[in-house]
Amino acid sequence: MSLYRDEAIVVRTYRLGEADRIVVLFTKARGKVRAVAKGVRKTTSRFGARLEPTSHVALQLYEGRNLDTITQAETIDHFRAIRDDLDRIGRASSILEAVDQITEEREPNGALYTMLLGALRALAADDHPLIAPGFFWKLLALEGLSPVVDACVVCGDDVGLCAFSLDDGGIVCAEHRRGAPLPAESIELLQLILGGRLGVALARPVTPATAEVEHLATRALEFHLERRLRSIGVLDRG
Ligand SMILES: [Zn+2]
Repeated sequence: MSLYRDEAIVVRTYRLGEADRIVVLFTKARGKVRAVAKGVRKTTSRFGARLEPTSHVALQLYEGRNLDTITQAETIDHFRAIRDDLDRIGRASSILEAVDQITEEREPNGALYTMLLGALRALAADDHPLIAPGFFWKLLALEGLSPVVDACVVCGDDVGLCAFSLDDGGIVCAEHRRGAPLPAESIELLQLILGGRLGVALARPVTPATAEVEHLATRALEFHLERRLRSIGVLDRG
């Protein structure tokens, strides 16, 4: 067993026995790691409230066969602005849940770590309804599942774009219309988010088109997670 240091974001925690907790971490160098925080639920715990979901922490851990053990935890950022606001807690929870669902344990993913930290910082600075969906779209892109948003996914034409087809993985034109209708303003927001200009999308006023992009992001993420679960199920039966 070896000792190591890493920085991490606390994804979620659950109780273990009388006084301990299992802490699911997304670490900078090792990806998702499950670790035990011993005595964390006692009032005298040396970890205090440092290991709560959304916390950005510097850690020292013992590597274990199944679970690592946290031996030191220092707070880098509590993201107090998120914790003090129910709306932002909800948005942060959906971001953390997406990371938990899409990642495998001990698969390093520095790009995702940077993206997750960026999303929490953005949420701490501004309660914008596009921060979580922006994260979902970029998460799908990082997984190699970026939808086609600049032209019709069927014919490649960029005129008359009017709907989004989850099955086809992108925007469709009037001629190939299928899936959910999407207003032009929402399509433009999608193009900004996936074109690396989330900042420009966040500077736009919040309109019903924003809610459409938010709703579609959740559906797209669920669609890919379900499809992946089904393909894992098929492999298991084989
Ligand atoms: Zn078309």
